[in-house]
Amino acid sequence: MIVARTWAVALTGLAGSLIEVEADITQHKPDFRLIGMPDKSLGEAVRRVMNASENSGLRLPDRRLTVNLSPASLPKQGSAFDLAIAVAALATDGRLDPESLARTVHIGELGLDGRVRAVPGVLPSVVAAVRAGRPRIVVPEENRAEAELVTGAEITGVRTLAQVALLHGADVDEPMVEPIDAPAAPPPAGAPAEVLDLADVVGQPQAVDTLLVAAAGGHHMLMSGPPGAGKTMLARRLPGILPPLGDDAALEVASIRSLTGERVASLSRTPPFEAPHHSATLAALVGGGSRRASPGAIARASRGVLFIDEVAEAPRSVLDALRQPLELGAIEIHRSGFTASFPARFQLVLAMNPCPCGEFGVAGGACTCSPAEVRRYAGKISGPLLDRVDIDMRMQRVSRIDGDRALVTTAAARDRVREARERAARRLAETPWRTNGEVAGTWLRSGPHPLDAGARSVLDGALDRGHITLRAYDRIVRVAWSVADLAGRARPTAADVGRALFLKKGISA
Ligand SMILES: [Zn+2]
Repeated sequence: MIVARTWAVALTGLAGSLIEVEADITQHKPDFRLIGMPDKSLGEAVRRVMNASENSGLRLPDRRLTVNLSPASLPKQGSAFDLAIAVAALATDGRLDPESLARTVHIGELGLDGRVRAVPGVLPSVVAAVRAGRPRIVVPEENRAEAELVTGAEITGVRTLAQVALLHGADVDEPMVEPIDAPAAPPPAGAPAEVLDLADVVGQPQAVDTLLVAAAGGHHMLMSGPPGAGKTMLARRLPGILPPLGDDAALEVASIRSLTGERVASLSRTPPFEAPHHSATLAALVGGGSRRASPGAIARASRGVLFIDEVAEAPRSVLDALRQPLELGAIEIHRSGFTASFPARFQLVLAMNPCPCGEFGVAGGACTCSPAEVRRYAGKISGPLLDRVDIDMRMQRVSRIDGDRALVTTAAARDRVREARERAARRLAETPWRTNGEVAGTWLRSGPHPLDAGARSVLDGALDRGHITLRAYDRIVRVAWSVADLAGRARPTAADVGRALFLKKGISA
């Protein structure tokens, strides 16, 4: 009789930790105990492991079996521990090779019939196992493709518990695997997202230019304009002009997809775009789940764009939920006994109508709202959220298309944005920031790259006359740098500052 050992992975948010799974038997009446702070679904794991073993022709020993998951202090949720528990239990009577078992990480849920079922979060689990120096990993066949995305991982995909036992030297018949009885898998994610072309946006040259400025500096923006002005159309084209995701970012985005249970087939290099409806539940936005913390739209937008249309209609709770991620670049989900943290570094794009009826300030429009209603509407997003918004863009419906103006394609825009970002990154090389949108105000004002006197005088005048606050001053300087970076200038001119001031004038702060 031996103490059998193998490995599993516990996920808390996106972070995975190796869990040692140990099994031992003693001379008592048959029993199966699971220890190591298991949650409710781990208790159910005992039932699944017993039935799956029986139905795979692999009876568990008729003794008292104890399986310990350590460290006990780590929260363990979900059904992905089934496979590790089963093989450790089966190995207690020497039928499986202990050396092979001890070198392998097992991830997967068991069906009562012995099938190995797909689980959410295989990608971040494999990342964690490889980083912890345990690259030999057994996963459900359905999750094999996403597991194989991790460099250095040695993945075996399995469909049944018996296949896993065979892998570790058990004398068992290769099981017949019938066609999948599992529910249809969700559509695969990670396939190259359809990139919408910026050239589709006609008659809005200023709006397109402003989108480039926002992309160049990673600036959060607010677009206001009547229905039909093309706010959504423009926002959807922002991910396509942002720099493609690097390896780590692409893996992080795919890992978040994996945690929501999507099948991830490949690493997408296009930054994600999430557009939760303003009436979305808080759980859909923030994330939730009782047993397993599952990321919501805010985390899914990380490394990409979070677009909230008709933001003035959104309940306070939705706007408040944005504050923590905007400040920390992460979002936390609190559950009894643990807190899961997900990355949430997104570029925020808000859109709203100018008033409840949508026609206020529209040329030829007939707004039916009272001045008080218009004021109240505009005031709905205020304070802390607006403090984070660098660009306030007013849009009008297209009334005339200027045929002489060449359309900007996504490919051309992306090249310009990339060059502008490289310029900013060189300037910011010695700082913790990479984009103009992140830079602290004090560094802008008293760092090594001050504005020229001429460029500054425009703003200093506005500040002295009380037309802008110091906070607004900083935001204007940030945007002015992005305008200059896009134009290939070493520093902002007075005209660049004027442009940034124009892009800011709607925000009273
Ligand atoms: Zn109105």
